[in-house]
Amino acid sequence: MRDVFNFSAGPATLPEPVLETAASEMLNWHGCGHAVMEMSHRGKEYMSIHSQAKQDLRELMGIPGDYEILFLQGGATAQFSLLPMNLATINKRVDIINTGQWSKKAITAAGDFATVNVAASSEAQRFTCVPDVADWQLDPGADYVHICVNETIGGVEYFFTPDVGKVPLVADISSTFLSRPIPVEQYDLIYGGAQKNIGPAGLTIVIASPEMIARSRDAKVPGILSLAAQAEADSMLNTPPTYAIYIAGLVFQWLKDQGGVQAIEKTNIEKAERLYSFIDQSDFFANPVKVANRSRMNVPFTLKDPALDETFLAGAGDAGLIQLKGHRSVGGMRASIYNAMPVAGVNRLVEFMQEFERTNA
Ligand SMILES: *Cc1c(COP(=O)(O)O)cnc(C)c1O
Repeated sequence: MRDVFNFSAGPATLPEPVLETAASEMLNWHGCGHAVMEMSHRGKEYMSIHSQAKQDLRELMGIPGDYEILFLQGGATAQFSLLPMNLATINKRVDIINTGQWSKKAITAAGDFATVNVAASSEAQRFTCVPDVADWQLDPGADYVHICVNETIGGVEYFFTPDVGKVPLVADISSTFLSRPIPVEQYDLIYGGAQKNIGPAGLTIVIASPEMIARSRDAKVPGILSLAAQAEADSMLNTPPTYAIYIAGLVFQWLKDQGGVQAIEKTNIEKAERLYSFIDQSDFFANPVKVANRSRMNVPFTLKDPALDETFLAGAGDAGLIQLKGHRSVGGMRASIYNAMPVAGVNRLVEFMQEFERTNA
């Protein structure tokens, strides 16, 4: 049906079977006579969609039973402010590790509510690595430590959980959500926008330990901005983004059909290796990221001659490979190869790059 592969960083490509199911259920969901978008969020039909999505996410990620799953709005960006408002309430000091553009936004936003200690930064390395944990200057009195597990723009990913001692660990996992198993119990809070690897824009997922919910309960923030109040109301303090949650639920079911996160991780490794190994053997394309920290989800790469960028993008478009333009802060190209990108899409990209190199080198 669709012969285009979309490498957008977000909103990103979704699994075709999910879109087909959504299309077939659009007018009349499961025979109820109306659309999901038209349902009352308090009605039994929508409630079943909401609770099934939570249950499937809990199962897929192995989320401990006492952790809360919140379906919120405002994007990961809102959390950059809401997390310090809710959690930086004891000593009002937070540690943030700076690995790229999204970390920087978290640092700036947290500065409105807390004293931010940038405990480590790879800015001097132009954000091409995760700083060595042994060198992190952590503050034992920090209210939490914040990391960005996958920097969507720079293509830098943590493949380990840093040991930060007794201080709670908080992580932005927007662009690596469900791409591989994550030991949720080693984090106190993880969060991300859905539009990278889960569903449409408009849904933000927060997964929080009971300690973080308790801390939020004591914070002086309005109910709608309170993690605790949202947890107590099952994310329905006001109308939740019902359609986005429904699509996310279909994606969770699709992922279970694929064999879950362990199985999708294998495919994600295969896709990333195919692309990076091609780039590495080429004298024409390059990726600057330290091998151990290379993102499996977002692969930035440059051409030897940036004057060829526009020709590359136009040719790629003609070959059905779209949204490959890199972020303005990095330049060059970026291929986002989330869960829903088939192996065939990466193969076609590599074939196109091979041919482009042959004719332009
Ligand atoms: C996209 C992204 C964000 C911002 O998400 P919004 O939903 O647009 O607020 C934050 N962090 C990371 C790592 C991202 O990839």
